[in-house]
Amino acid sequence: MLKFALAGNPNSGKTTLFNNLTGSTAHVGNWPGVTVDKREGIYKKGTKPVSLVDLPGIYSLSPYTPEEVISRNFILDEKPDCVINIVDVTNLERNLYLTTQILEMDVPIVIALNMIDVVEKQGDKIDAKALEKKIGVPVVKVSALKGTGLSELMARAIEVCKTKRMGKTVLEDCKISHLIGDVKLALEGQEIENPLFHAIKLVENDELEIQMHPQTVKTVELFKAHFNDELFGTDLEALIADARYKYISKHFSPTMTKKQKGIVDTKSDKIDKVLTNKWAGIPIFLAILFAMFHLTFGEDFLYLGKIFNLPALDMGEGSGASLVACFYDGAVFSPGVILFNLMGLLTETVFGWLISLIESLGASQVIVSIIGDGVIIGLSGVLSFVPQIVFLLMILSILEDTGYMARVAFILDRIFRRFGVSGRAFIPMIMGFGCSIPAMINTRTLADEREKTMTLRTIPFFSCGAKLPILAAVSGAVASLIGIDGGLISFSMYVLVMVTAVISILAMRSTTQRGEVSPFIMELPSYRLPSFNALMIHLWDKTKHYIQKVFTVILVSTIAIWLLTNFSWSWEFLMQEIDGEMVNIRINESILGSIGMFIQPLFTPLGFGAQLNSNGWVFAVAAITGLIAKENVISTFGALAACIAGGMVATEEGISEVLAMMNSVTASPTALWPAMIAFIVFNMTTIPCFAAVAAAKGETPKGKFKWTLLFWIVASFIAGTITYVVLSWWWTAFIIIALFVLIGFAIKFYNKKHPIK
Ligand code: GDP
Ligand code: MG
Repeated sequence: MLKFALAGNPNSGKTTLFNNLTGSTAHVGNWPGVTVDKREGIYKKGTKPVSLVDLPGIYSLSPYTPEEVISRNFILDEKPDCVINIVDVTNLERNLYLTTQILEMDVPIVIALNMIDVVEKQGDKIDAKALEKKIGVPVVKVSALKGTGLSELMARAIEVCKTKRMGKTVLEDCKISHLIGDVKLALEGQEIENPLFHAIKLVENDELEIQMHPQTVKTVELFKAHFNDELFGTDLEALIADARYKYISKHFSPTMTKKQKGIVDTKSDKIDKVLTNKWAGIPIFLAILFAMFHLTFGEDFLYLGKIFNLPALDMGEGSGASLVACFYDGAVFSPGVILFNLMGLLTETVFGWLISLIESLGASQVIVSIIGDGVIIGLSGVLSFVPQIVFLLMILSILEDTGYMARVAFILDRIFRRFGVSGRAFIPMIMGFGCSIPAMINTRTLADEREKTMTLRTIPFFSCGAKLPILAAVSGAVASLIGIDGGLISFSMYVLVMVTAVISILAMRSTTQRGEVSPFIMELPSYRLPSFNALMIHLWDKTKHYIQKVFTVILVSTIAIWLLTNFSWSWEFLMQEIDGEMVNIRINESILGSIGMFIQPLFTPLGFGAQLNSNGWVFAVAAITGLIAKENVISTFGALAACIAGGMVATEEGISEVLAMMNSVTASPTALWPAMIAFIVFNMTTIPCFAAVAAAKGETPKGKFKWTLLFWIVASFIAGTITYVVLSWWWTAFIIIALFVLIGFAIKFYNKKHPIK
């Protein structure tokens, strides 16, 4: 099968093109550096199938970043049949800089002039025919987003890969062309492949090249010495870069005619004056974040209920009323909550039918119980959240697609640089809001080992979608206990956990991970309207992923938990029939119960340990099952709570009902809210799910990972404890702040005495 590689600058549309050609759903984001590893897919729409590889985005073929090395080595070693070079026409010169380097390799090339839709809309023109003549390889106008020109692109690629192509350089008229020619001849003599490319890199003193061909370096030095008079003291790399740009602007740029002449403030620049403003930037970011959580979790949308003092719903019997209650009850619910309610109603109805079906088939009480209390409560607890999770992800994707998230990295860089992190590290962190796994893989692009370690450790603090049920259910319960809007609680939780991230970065930077902050250079992509199709593909992909997880990992876990809570160590079945219903009042004697009670005291500093009565182990167990998948926290809690409360409990009310039964501090469950907030904080900051742990381990040097695990455990216990203590006794905040300041000074003093070598 033919193999084509897609190469181009970051954010030039490679992944969009790749998805469009192969029908894949790889992540597309309007910021540089989303694809960090190569990705393969198959193009089937042509006469014969072609394997396509999406390479990470690069600005050059010099080994400055890991992406550049990956892409360069792929083309040199794997020898694709053709390189499809994607050029973002809205940034023609900079994109062609990479093109001039790929042209030097002995590989067939086709150039895809992407974003042609944008150019045409602006009224600019580009003469592809003229450019093709000048460059000497096929040039095709495409729009990866709209899908235009793609079949022509592939047809021409299939055409050119039939003939061999020799590398060509634009450095021919340059004053070192003789030097390059001599080195190339020497390399050809050694039968080295891609002699022109290697020759130019050797002349540039390219690090990777010097390592690869140490024996040739001497020859090159000799040649250089020969030209010494002319070249004495010149930086050859700069000279070559300059020659490339000069050639591009002299020969290639004229093929494009711009409607507007000179530099004008583009629309993007104008928007940026506000959004990335030194003072307004952060407040705007927080406001957007708040709006996002209000839309997803707000129980009183736009505070209409409060403002207009709306009446509560007069609930009649019947399903019509409960449908209305999904939208309104004394306040209009926000879209996220409505989606949650509707999904809850749906799962409740469907599962209700299922139970009556099973009962009518004459299944035994035990079967009904395992399905009803074990499986269904666990699954529906998680399933109801799927639309709400997807809704939140949709807002995040829109923010990412428009290009706003790239600005966030930029704004945050300005502030957090002095605390020891660069804006580049925020890209994986913000990606962590979706799922930690791709975020952890993305840290590969962080060249500085220390910065990478710190980023890997803090990614779980940017809560992924799977943690949302914990947040929504528990903060919903707290909201109903103390009468604060659920959206506000969720928002504060996210902010609190991000503050924890900042504090732990500070702590690491001044202790185990001391060092300089790496520079951060990122080109801000222009603002774009998000593409509806791409958004839907992305969301569908996520929805599928969550539903798959519900019916695999979570299903198995809930069954295991049902078994462990209904059998004792001596394998005695603990359920008994009372008033014709199967209940388990001896749950504390179960296997899970006894393990839970054993570990329960560990959580005393966090408020959900020994303070609670013997049922309180449910919290501890739920936190532990979360290590398998974070959704398990709520499904476990739901299933166990149902067992304790003896019957079906809807998530939110269930929690406060169950709390009353766990509480031995006071009679009122209200007293438990600080512990519940600490429970959220603990789950948001502790060891992430297995899959994320594996991803993080893969990105960590051998033997170092144990420290990261330890970090998560310590950080989550400290964060949870502080939360509980301060919320229970507000004045302790002063003691804790004083303690932090004291420790801070002590570390500063120590570091001054022991400067980094
Ligand atoms: P990559 O970094 O090169 O993989 O680029 P992506 O495929 O992630 O795309 C970057 C951004 O450009 C996304 O917001 C895309 O929606 C957008 N984009 C890609 N191709 C086109 C195009 O042909 N026209 C327009 N208008 N936008 C595009
Ligand atoms: Mg990409």
